[in-house]
Amino acid sequence: GEPLLVGDDLHRSFGPTPALAGASISVRAGEVVAVMGPSGSGKSTLLHCLAGIVRPDRGSVRYRGTELATLSDAGRSALRRREFGFVFQFGQLVPELTCLENVALPLRLERVPRREAERRAGEWLARLEVADVAGKRPGEVSGGQGQRVAVARALVTGPRVVFADEPTGALDSLNGERVMRLLAGAARETGAAVLLVTHEPRVAAYSDREVVVRDGRARSLEQVA
Ligand code: ADP
Ligand code: ADP
Repeated sequence: GEPLLVGDDLHRSFGPTPALAGASISVRAGEVVAVMGPSGSGKSTLLHCLAGIVRPDRGSVRYRGTELATLSDAGRSALRRREFGFVFQFGQLVPELTCLENVALPLRLERVPRREAERRAGEWLARLEVADVAGKRPGEVSGGQGQRVAVARALVTGPRVVFADEPTGALDSLNGERVMRLLAGAARETGAAVLLVTHEPRVAAYSDREVVVRDGRARSLEQVA
């Protein structure tokens, strides 16, 4: 059948130089794909187009056969909330909430009752080996712990696709690999696809497949070699 998520001939400019200039990519259910390439090559823009956050100037994004451009803004937001999870480099946790409340938040937004949401959040914190920080605020935990909390929050709703933009970029290599091992492992268990932007080969090693972006175009590693 059709891959889960398909970006076809994506173009996007923010100024005179295009960020994307005909990038195509497809992601199958359950696969972990590393998106690599030099700084400024268009990796984040590609991720944002695929996630329905940035509108491509040209080209299409289809998720489970539905063209994102045919959805309303509310439709795209609902899709992101229900089917996608996001992990960024840093700064994504709400500082006023405890780590447990942060992980429970996406469920609360879907109107899951508090007790149930916090029970499931607690399970995810345990799976990411950070059960001990449940009652702490993000400012009171280490960078590696915070990223594991962020991964738990991205996975708690059972997304089909996790978008991870340099999720280990602010961590030392030991903590970075731990986050990746847990993210890739949890994704494999739940069947979520992961689209992982990274420039670190040691992080990309956790993927099934690598795609290289250069000058706004994406190609699989075999084609580059
Ligand atoms: P990468 O993730 O590979 O570093 P990006 O997709 O972030 O690359 O950026 C590609 C190009 O598009 C860069 O030249 C960047 O400065 C530009 N760009 C990306 N997003 C924006 C934006 N919101 N406004 C202006 N320029 C942007
Ligand atoms: P701008 O071009 O105004 O800087 P964006 O390119 O980020 O802004 O697009 C913002 C608007 O485009 C939002 O309303 C967003 O929901 C919508 N949008 C995002 N992705 C897509 C898509 N794939 N197809 C159509 N519209 C989209």
